[in-house]
Amino acid sequence: VSLVVQKYGGSSVADPDRIRLVARRVVGAAANGDQVCVVVSAMGDTTDELLELATRVSGNPHPRERDMLLTAGERISIALLSMAINDLGSDAVSFTGSQAGIVTDTTHGKARIVELRAYRVREALDAGRIAIVAGFQGVSPELDDTTLGRGGSDTTAVALAAALDAEVCDIYTDVEGVYTADPRIVPDARKLETLSYEEMLELASCGARVLMVRSVEFARNHGVPLRVRSTFSEDEGTRIVREDDVLEQAIISGIAHDTTEAKVTIQGVPDQPGVAARVFRPLADAAVHVDMIVQNVSEAGHTDISFTLPKDDLAHAEPVLAGIAREVGGSGFICDPEIAKVSLIGAGMKSHPGVAADMFEALADAGINIEIISTSSIRISCVVRADDLEQAVRVVHERFGLARANN
Ligand code: ASP
Ligand code: MG
Repeated sequence: VSLVVQKYGGSSVADPDRIRLVARRVVGAAANGDQVCVVVSAMGDTTDELLELATRVSGNPHPRERDMLLTAGERISIALLSMAINDLGSDAVSFTGSQAGIVTDTTHGKARIVELRAYRVREALDAGRIAIVAGFQGVSPELDDTTLGRGGSDTTAVALAAALDAEVCDIYTDVEGVYTADPRIVPDARKLETLSYEEMLELASCGARVLMVRSVEFARNHGVPLRVRSTFSEDEGTRIVREDDVLEQAIISGIAHDTTEAKVTIQGVPDQPGVAARVFRPLADAAVHVDMIVQNVSEAGHTDISFTLPKDDLAHAEPVLAGIAREVGGSGFICDPEIAKVSLIGAGMKSHPGVAADMFEALADAGINIEIISTSSIRISCVVRADDLEQAVRVVHERFGLARANN
């Protein structure tokens, strides 16, 4: 027998009918003779609703209690899914994160898995039962419930797949796989057959929301084969594997976009040793996650430093930025939330010159101004006006011929 881990996202278990549909899928997989471990998210928007509820009770929900509250969401779905499976005549048993032995550190709200003691899950599987595990949650060494951060059920699934040495980790969602671009922006975007972990990591880090970034890192580090596929179809989905196992490597795999960042510029800072360190240390100390840092050549000994940071962090970063500008002797700072980032990703870029030029030309031809550029060996990202984002995604998609063949 082989062992598979299946993860079902919130939309796949959003209501009783869908839960029964998932139950039939799970039972179908078990009927093939596979051992099946299932990880589920909270039903629909439950997590958002619980967070909302917390803010209506408390101005500043205590992190431990917020986690206690949020873990209830997944507890509901594991129990309901197990019932539905039992009704189909199969034997299912549900486990909370702590019962499943998912041990994390103590960082409430974004805990990291430090160890898996999946004995009970293993035992259930070996006894021929279907194990249903609550995603997104774990238990700290002090036995407090923790959560892994939004989208954390993906990470639960991959961690279990690694610990149980599963054949594959299937991530079931409401789309058929990973696309060359967001189909809501590019209607003829194509579903990708295979992607490397590195490409998926770049896509996820640059705003593609199919998979939590940390789950992809985990899968890469432990060599867990991933598949992203739809709960509502039989399509094979997108396989995410080691780069060497990608058979026909396309030059470009896809485009991701991100509207969650803002651009900050610290103006007129002296061009002297130590200035960048004095700009970014206070931001790091305030736990602000900065990205896309650019510093230009200086004119008359002064220069501007620009970077992006999450819009959600702006309110909290602004006083820090004001302090920085003063401290380094800059002339001021500007926060601009009206930006968006478009990223082109493909492992083949490494060996094909001209990809950046093609991307910039596509944007130029559309009259779109590029404000910041950053690259990795398999990615080119451009910051543009938020209003230009959709057109930017479409013209770059078009330029690289990523659309599915017309039929
Ligand atoms: N329910 C959690 C969330 O909405 C975890 C997950 O869905 O993966 O973020
Ligand atoms: Mg969810």
